[in-house]
Amino acid sequence: MDILSLVRPNIIQLKPYSTARDEFKGVADIYLDANENPFPSPYHRYPDPMQIKLKDKIGGIKKIKAEQIFIGNGSDEAIDLLIRAFCEPGKDSILITEPTYGMYSVCASINDVAVKKSLLTSQFQLNPDDLYSKIDSSLKLIFLCSPNNPSGNLLDKEIIMELLKQFKGIVVIDEAYIDFTDDEGFIPILSRFPNLVVMQTLSKAWGLAGLRLGMAFASEAIINILNKIKYPYNINSITQQIVLEQLDKEVEKNKQVNIIRQERERLVNRLIQLPIVQTVFPSDANFLLVRMANAKSIYNYLMHHSIIVRDRSSVVLCQDCLRITIGTSLENDQLIEKLILYSESN
Ligand SMILES: *Cc1c(COP(=O)(O)O)cnc(C)c1O
Repeated sequence: MDILSLVRPNIIQLKPYSTARDEFKGVADIYLDANENPFPSPYHRYPDPMQIKLKDKIGGIKKIKAEQIFIGNGSDEAIDLLIRAFCEPGKDSILITEPTYGMYSVCASINDVAVKKSLLTSQFQLNPDDLYSKIDSSLKLIFLCSPNNPSGNLLDKEIIMELLKQFKGIVVIDEAYIDFTDDEGFIPILSRFPNLVVMQTLSKAWGLAGLRLGMAFASEAIINILNKIKYPYNINSITQQIVLEQLDKEVEKNKQVNIIRQERERLVNRLIQLPIVQTVFPSDANFLLVRMANAKSIYNYLMHHSIIVRDRSSVVLCQDCLRITIGTSLENDQLIEKLILYSESN
C-alpha cells in the first residue's frame, strides 16, 4: 500500500520548520545558534526535538525501532496530527465505533473532518457488516480503541486483522489500556501492515498522566509524516528527562498493574452482590463499566460524599452506566461502603 498517496498533497509538499538542533546534531562547546539565554540553568536549552534518547529507551521496552516511534504531548497530539495529515477538511472523513473515547471525533470536528459512526453490539464488540458499509472514498482513518473506553473490553482481533487487509486507508488502534490485559496488542504485527498505527500512553499503567506523553507506533512512512508536521519542540525537557528515569521502573509498574488487576476482580465481586447493580461489564482495563438502577442519582450521591466517578449514563449503549476507575484497596472499600449505604437508604 502506498501510504504517501493517502497523505494530503499540501502536507507532502510542505517544507517543515527546521530547528537549530535539527541542523547540528553533534555535541559542541559553545551554542550560539538558538538565541537561548547563555546563563546556565537546568532549563535554558531547547529540548531535543526528535527525543532520540527517549525513543531508544521506549524502543527497547516495546521491541520496536526508534524510527517507528512518534512521541506526542499525550496521545491526543497523535490523534490530531493523524487527522491533519490524512484528512482534507470539508471533504474527507474518519470512522469511529460507538461508544468510544471522545477525542477522535473532537479532533476531527475541530479540523472540519466528518465523523462516521458504527455502533458496537450490546456487548461492545465490532459489527463488521456495519463497519464495511460505512467505508467509502472519503474515508481515510478508522479509529478503534482496544481495550475500549468506556466499556473496558478488548475488541475482536480477527475482525481487526481482516479490516487491516481490506481497508485501503489507515487503521488506528488506541491501546491506552493494553498494559492491563494479557493480550500483546498489535505492536508485534506492525511490520505486516504499513497502514496500521498503534497508540499507547504513559498516562494510565505507567502512572505519568501529569507529564503528558503519548506514543504512536507505525511504519516509518507514517512516522516521518507525523514528525514533519508536529510542533518542533513538542515534548519539553522536564518530561523527556523524568520519563527517561521513570521508564527504568518497569518492575514497579508491573507490580502496580497486578495489584490494580486484583483489585478489579475484588471490586467486581463486591459490586455484583449489591442489589442496585444490574451488570458489571467484563473489563481488560483499569476501570469498570457498571449498569445500575438510577445511575444518575448514585453518581450524585457519591459526589455528595466526595467520591467522583464518571457518569456515562447519557452515552449510547451505556444507559444507566457509571464508569468507575479502580483505586487503591482502601478507596475501593470506601466506594463499596457508600454504595451499600445508598442501597440501604433507597
Ligand atoms: C486516557 C486515554 C488516552 C490517554 O490520552 P493521553 O493524552 O495520552 O493522556 C488515550 N486514549 C484513550 C482511549 C484513553 O482512555
